[in-house]
Amino acid sequence: MLEIIPLPALKDNYIWLLKNKASSHVAIVDPSEATSLLNMIETEGLIPVAIMITHHHWDHVGGIAEITAKYDIPVYTPKKESVEGSTNLVGEGDIVSLPELDLELNILDVPGHTSGAIAYYNEEMVFSGDTLFTAGCGRMFEGTPPQMHASLSKFKTLPDDTLLYCGHEYTVSNLKFAATVEPENKAVQERLLKAKRLREQNQPTIPATLAIEKETNPFLRCEKTNVIDAANQHTGKILEKAHEVFAAIRGWKDSF
Ligand code: ZN
Ligand code: FE
Repeated sequence: MLEIIPLPALKDNYIWLLKNKASSHVAIVDPSEATSLLNMIETEGLIPVAIMITHHHWDHVGGIAEITAKYDIPVYTPKKESVEGSTNLVGEGDIVSLPELDLELNILDVPGHTSGAIAYYNEEMVFSGDTLFTAGCGRMFEGTPPQMHASLSKFKTLPDDTLLYCGHEYTVSNLKFAATVEPENKAVQERLLKAKRLREQNQPTIPATLAIEKETNPFLRCEKTNVIDAANQHTGKILEKAHEVFAAIRGWKDSF
């Protein structure tokens, strides 16, 4: 049995641990830092088997050197980015095989937040880094709106019950923005209440199903009339293409 464990790191990052409950083998997604992780590995007797990186930003790779100094394990990183400590470059079409976890993960190329960002997925879960967030999406540091919009659309092709694991705890603030874009969307209001309650108890709001994302995440809803109308009103233009609607609401969120 596989268990997915969130390890809060830095200000609002999550390091995700994929643990084989029977054997205590773990794979590590986006180790922001090493200290708390190495402590946990020691106190819980975990056996690291691999590191998987979604993109090159420091808050996702900062722990690699310290972890691999102690544990000689493969470090999977995006083909199109340079990450220090990488041992295996991966891109769309590749498979990461983790026999100790009885798990294989596929790769999607999802450029936009960074130019080479990737996501890891199987039929049950997807690790999206800073590309798709719960109820939001990452800033476009290295990509264009058509590119980022196309990347976000790829997540929509995964099954509705896929669980989304992203790199930061941003759900509440993302939903406040979603409620501004779609004030009449009841699913957004309900999700916001639930997310606030979880955060008050210091619980993660992640994972979330892609089904709820499709209902509440404005960046996955650029073809919906409500979102198009809101984007038109915000920009004072008639936006015709979905990626233009996406660009408008991404820009709106940047100044929100
Ligand atoms: Zn990032
Ligand atoms: Fe980040």
